[in-house]
Amino acid sequence: MNIIGHDREKEIFGRVLRENRLHHAYILSGRDGIGKKLFAKELAKAVLCVNGSFMEDCKCRHCTLADGGAHPDIHIIEESPLKIDRAREISSNAFMTPLSASKKVYIIDSADTFGAEAANALLKTLEEPPEDTHFFLITSRYTQVLHTIRSRCINIGFGVLSDDDVKAVVRKHSMKSEEETDRAVSISSGSAGYALYLLESMEKQPEFNSTLNPVELYYEIESLDDKDKVRAYCASLYGYLLERYKKTGSETMLAFSNYLLDILKRLEYNVSLDIFRFDLYIKTVEVLSEKS
Ligand SMILES: [Zn+2]
Repeated sequence: MNIIGHDREKEIFGRVLRENRLHHAYILSGRDGIGKKLFAKELAKAVLCVNGSFMEDCKCRHCTLADGGAHPDIHIIEESPLKIDRAREISSNAFMTPLSASKKVYIIDSADTFGAEAANALLKTLEEPPEDTHFFLITSRYTQVLHTIRSRCINIGFGVLSDDDVKAVVRKHSMKSEEETDRAVSISSGSAGYALYLLESMEKQPEFNSTLNPVELYYEIESLDDKDKVRAYCASLYGYLLERYKKTGSETMLAFSNYLLDILKRLEYNVSLDIFRFDLYIKTVEVLSEKS
């Protein structure tokens, strides 16, 4: 699997791997949807590969197993938040001999969601892991990772992707028109995951068909009582705004669609739904009542 973009990060890890200086615990931090976990999987392969290849196709037994997502010494933990029992299990398993390769790798997602107890269960292992074990923790909110975890890992901040790179990733997964792709790419701010999310949302969601009557709009927005409903509503509204922008060229519509993306990101942080809905309502009435 070739990773698109992230030349700087490839250079950093390429060097430490060549010089055999890979640290035992890293945090890969950076925006959602830029490929940090994929990158971590490539790192895991490089750690286990018998040919020492990194970011290159290799058909050795370990790379083949890893490419199939079935290597017994690559542990990918995606539960969020990490449960205490799971953290304890990781800690004790880390001291066992690898099953197939000479080393083993743990990729642990959402490092920012570790609670104090789960983190405590991992601390000792992160600090003094067995020689044959490497950890790659992943987060899009580095500052929210507990200090005790941060202080035991080397943080590598991943940059966002260029528009060309986002487009290259999107092209691999989506058959949307050039125009829709370009628009999603340009407002994705360097996140391929977000660009794909936008394209998918435009496809799935029905046209936004609010009457734009402020009172009805109020009840409509008020009825969004969980984050998924808010996301679906915003995605539908987003599609509508882009249509309006296409027809009218109104910069207000474009600015609002960007605003929508910004506030959607806030949903990822435990923002109060009440405040979110209120902001959304005020802004929506303000923009949509502007006849353009
Ligand atoms: Zn290999």
